[in-house]
Amino acid sequence: MVWWQLVNNAEIAAISSTTALQRERISVSVLKFGGTSVKNLARIQHVAEIVRDRLTAGAKILVVVSAMGDTTDYLLKLGSQCAKSPDRRELDSLLSTGEQISITLLAMTLQELGIRSRSFTASQIGIFTEKVHSKARIVDINSANLNRALEHNDVLVVAGFQGVTADGDITTLGRGGSDTTACALAAAIGADVCDIYTDVDGIYTADPNVIAEARLLKRVSYGEVIEMARLGAQVLHPRAVELARQYKVRMRVRNTFKPDHEGTVIDEGDGENMEIYRSISGVAVDKDQSCVTIMNVPDKPGIAGRIMQALAENNIVIDMIMQAFHPTAGHNNITFTVHVSDLDQTIKTLESIKDDLDASSVISDPDIAKVSLIGAGLAGQSGIAATIFNSFGAAGINIKMIATSEMKLTCVVSAADADRASKIMHSSFGEEE
Ligand code: ASP
Ligand code: MG
Repeated sequence: MVWWQLVNNAEIAAISSTTALQRERISVSVLKFGGTSVKNLARIQHVAEIVRDRLTAGAKILVVVSAMGDTTDYLLKLGSQCAKSPDRRELDSLLSTGEQISITLLAMTLQELGIRSRSFTASQIGIFTEKVHSKARIVDINSANLNRALEHNDVLVVAGFQGVTADGDITTLGRGGSDTTACALAAAIGADVCDIYTDVDGIYTADPNVIAEARLLKRVSYGEVIEMARLGAQVLHPRAVELARQYKVRMRVRNTFKPDHEGTVIDEGDGENMEIYRSISGVAVDKDQSCVTIMNVPDKPGIAGRIMQALAENNIVIDMIMQAFHPTAGHNNITFTVHVSDLDQTIKTLESIKDDLDASSVISDPDIAKVSLIGAGLAGQSGIAATIFNSFGAAGINIKMIATSEMKLTCVVSAADADRASKIMHSSFGEEE
């Protein structure tokens, strides 16, 4: 088997079993700090102090940091000023420099506090990814390197968001990917906990900036957070939580600016009890979505497969696929949603196969939003959909697409209706916790 092949699409298909460490049982915690937490030198100092305060005798800390503040956006902008659609290999190298700045500054600051600390880029420590630019998945981590570095240091500061291919090319894991780096390292090293420090108290039932009634969740299951993140809640990188679930890494989301606040624990949840104490956990809104329709494709076997294949070959992830049932027409429209950043590539791809498929045209709408209700106990509650659709109707909100699964109910509405729709959804479930 080629070692970088992904098994079952899982990130880090195999962490070598020797990993669980020939290390004596030294406890290692992984702490991740996002861009706002390391926005300037004063904040880096603050982060260094949190790390110092958490360092207990004999224990080790692995810190993962994002780029300072909006650095990644700034770098992206620079790149787009040099080329209309910049080469993805070059762009990844450029973007990775943001994290290289923050790790070195934090390592120096920690050293000033008398802590044995060193910074590492992904290629220095060995975070290997597949050969895909801008959204590469991690396939392996060199845990021998990690252990060696931990022998000589008390705190390792590792660059989030970046990886390296077997050929030595720098890759990035997708926006917000530092969370994924943190969870992958926590899994590889067998860490006791992976704390994600950010600028809010934890995970809420909705975005508190939009919905004042949003409540902080003390504890939430991996599955629910994965749904929230996938459906647009700006909580965590969904892949991070997937990794944590797969490798049973206990996660916490905490506030950098209130280090004593307990935040939100993410773990397996209470199994059966989960549904009893809470059927719905939150509302997520994703405004960065667009919908695309390929019109009048022949209604025969194989067509949908060819469309999805073409999109998959271009690494385009689509969602909410909808095909209506036209018993007499002999033709179908196939509609799906796609992230706005993939919209151009999606249209290009569909245009290139349109004639072969005998489809009539490709149309798209970038002004949509996905509004979703998430909860482990949603499946058994058919009345919830009725309540929500009725309330949308009463508020004059048109639902363009609907999708449901065990843990979620998603409606596509126009972007202009998104906030109103999310408020209605949120008020449809009471104060349960
Ligand atoms: N700096 C990267 C970004 O802004 C990665 C991260 O923050 O997690 O997307
Ligand atoms: Mg960021």
